[in-house]
Amino acid sequence: MKDNGYIGERIKRINAALPDGVTLIAVSKYHPAESVQAAYEAGQRDFGESKAQDLVKKQQELPADIRWHFIGHLQSNKIKYIAPFVHLIHSIDSYRLLQEVDRHGAKNGRRIPCLLQIHIAKEDTKFGFTPDECISMLQDSAWRTLQNIEIRGVMCMASNTDDLELIREEFAAVQRLFLEMKERFFNDEKNRFDIMSAGMSDDYPIAIEQGSTHIRIGSGIFCK
Ligand SMILES: *Cc1c(COP(=O)(O)O)cnc(C)c1O
Repeated sequence: MKDNGYIGERIKRINAALPDGVTLIAVSKYHPAESVQAAYEAGQRDFGESKAQDLVKKQQELPADIRWHFIGHLQSNKIKYIAPFVHLIHSIDSYRLLQEVDRHGAKNGRRIPCLLQIHIAKEDTKFGFTPDECISMLQDSAWRTLQNIEIRGVMCMASNTDDLELIREEFAAVQRLFLEMKERFFNDEKNRFDIMSAGMSDDYPIAIEQGSTHIRIGSGIFCK
């Protein structure tokens, strides 16, 4: 049996320091089910994976009350595997993908919560809508006809840099966009548009300072 005690300690330490209203998602990608179990035993219930197959495998092996978040690039042909149970899809990066998720939501008789991924970082390898693309997608109200998805907010990744000011500006820009979207498109009472998923192991304190409600931490919990 491996010594996984450090995982539970980190879960407790991070959660204890989080402000009210901020949810920790433990990103367990590349880590075995026993590491997830160690975090679970420390009280952690929200976990993130970036590959559909890994998400399904762990969901089958681990306790049923875990809330599984999908945070990676989602291919249309993989939606069917996660649609029955996924708690939140963070990585919607096109209207087409949203339509496909909606179709699988209908098949499973559920409304699947989704976030729109915003491309904000300087690197061009990262997926997501630019702020302009995102606004124009919402301006064209076709998405309002989709009955089996619910757009709950935005997700982003900051640039991979040591420049903390740049990271702060990027998160601030996403928060402004989030608030603008909420006011213009989701101001109706029946819309819950309340999630900003931003911040990873190295930058989550800055993300929280800029309004993030969901932080996604992997290496800071699971790597020795
Ligand atoms: C891997 C990953 C994380 C976690 O990153 P760490 O730096 O290990 O905390 C968060 N979000 C996404 C989208 C990821 O792919």
